[in-house]
Amino acid sequence: MKQILIVEDEPNMRLGLKDNLEFEGYKVAVATDGSQGLAAIESNQYHLVLLDVMLPELSGFDVCRIARERGIQTPIILLTAKGEEIDKVLGLELGADDYITKPFGLRELLARIKAVLRRGPNAKKEPVEASIGKMTVNFSSYSANVDQEQVRMSHKEFEILKYLWEHRNHTVSRYQLLEDIWGYHEQPTTRTVDNFILKLRQKVEQNPEDPQIILTVHGVGYKMLEPS
Ligand code: CA
Repeated sequence: MKQILIVEDEPNMRLGLKDNLEFEGYKVAVATDGSQGLAAIESNQYHLVLLDVMLPELSGFDVCRIARERGIQTPIILLTAKGEEIDKVLGLELGADDYITKPFGLRELLARIKAVLRRGPNAKKEPVEASIGKMTVNFSSYSANVDQEQVRMSHKEFEILKYLWEHRNHTVSRYQLLEDIWGYHEQPTTRTVDNFILKLRQKVEQNPEDPQIILTVHGVGYKMLEPS
């Protein structure tokens, strides 16, 4: 049974969430302020934490930041109030996995919970930096280097490279790339994909004529071999 911790100071909210989540089959524990919440998170027994932002003692942001600083990977969904738009971004930067704005519907919350639980605590562990062929790329700052020299890459090139890297050792079809990188509504052709791949090969392959990193899977698409 999945265990969820609710950190929320408003009694009605806390109780309502607890009842609903228990009804959905989760085992639920509660904490009523930030420091109590942090202590509970540190016990490391929960699969997920619902963390209110405006809390007595420590704010939800503080709790999230401190927990991550201490190496705790438990997924956290922040509960933010309306009008805290800027804070959401801050929350995600502090290591939260998702946020939901009050007032929210139960269905939406349950969907978020399921999605975060599915991604699991390892979702954030992927390093942002990778060595791909002769290139070192940082997917968070969108910068790339070859032999200490900065390489100019378009945002689209970064996106495609990241996508291939996240799916490394698996074949990615041209259509998959079109759908996931360009979206349904733009209308590039599979030729567009091929042209981007050619450009990327120029940058990562020792010999772009004989690719060893981004391979062609004939009739389907491409496959990035695990960069070592
Ligand atoms: Ca509150």
